[in-house]
Amino acid sequence: MKDIKHIFFDLDHTLWDFEKNSSEALREIFVEMQLHDHIESVESFIATYQRINAKYWGLYNHGKVTKEKLRYVRFEDSLNEFKVSDASKKAILLGESYIQRSPHKTNLFPDAHETLQYLNDKYELHIITNGFTEVQYIKLDNCGLTPYFDLILCTEEVGVNKPNPLVFQTALSRTNANPSQSLMIGDNPETDIQGAQDCAMHTVLFNPHQHSHDVNSIEIQGLKELRNLL
Ligand SMILES: [Mg+2]
Repeated sequence: MKDIKHIFFDLDHTLWDFEKNSSEALREIFVEMQLHDHIESVESFIATYQRINAKYWGLYNHGKVTKEKLRYVRFEDSLNEFKVSDASKKAILLGESYIQRSPHKTNLFPDAHETLQYLNDKYELHIITNGFTEVQYIKLDNCGLTPYFDLILCTEEVGVNKPNPLVFQTALSRTNANPSQSLMIGDNPETDIQGAQDCAMHTVLFNPHQHSHDVNSIEIQGLKELRNLL
């Protein structure tokens, strides 16, 4: 790690606590749309949504579902699991409300700011995210993260998502970075870690919940650990 000059961070589930932020937004919308009339518990709705959302993001990452479809179909499928009437109509409202609300949530993983401040003194920091361009900038701004990063690359502007090598090649060329001097830090073994390794970059897997995986990478459970590595 001693030659590292550039550090590329993933955003969702790595710096921005997606699950916490998403749950907060869903709880508010659940009340607003009076979903308790149809669904017994908000917890089971959130758990169902998160499972279905993860499935659709897997498809989106590989270009197998469009952004427009992902935005409502994840809610439509969730509502259908609870046999809610008018699921498709409600899903559109839910999808709109969610995309308005969730990016304004500001829960980060512990020690995010302290760690970024520390790293920013020693390295050039960047973001590579598969998230939607219009919401990722809101998240970064509202959390006060924008000033840490030189390049913020939302993959929509590349036209393909991580793990497609074109994403990492674009990020490397825009930052004038050599892959051997570059480190990718992210939570997704496939899109962040395998994708970056395929482009000869170093990697750190952020794995706070210690999920099993089959990539070979340095691994951390908390952002603070980066201070021992870098
Ligand atoms: Mg992520």
